[in-house]
Amino acid sequence: MKVYLGCLAPHVGPPRPDQMCLVWREVAREQDPLRVIEYTCECEDTVHELCREAGLAYICRITRLDGVVQSVHETYRWRFKEAQDVWIALLKGEAR
Ligand SMILES: [Zn+2]
Repeated sequence: MKVYLGCLAPHVGPPRPDQMCLVWREVAREQDPLRVIEYTCECEDTVHELCREAGLAYICRITRLDGVVQSVHETYRWRFKEAQDVWIALLKGEAR
């Protein structure tokens, strides 16, 4: 997990050869920040957020260009523990 000087949040790790591919569904809306539990560093154009909703959790991926949101994708909903495992895998470069 790389961390630049001045960065307060983690970054998504470099891809590993055995990484699992997540299903990302495109959604129109932006995330309600109240649902965000963890997030990756905003120094990169793509920000991932671990979100909670009604006892379940999912990961949201926001792609930006020059600070303007280009697209928002979400994974399926999982139980919180499962979503947390996927979140950790994402940070380690084991999932994408
Ligand atoms: Zn950063």
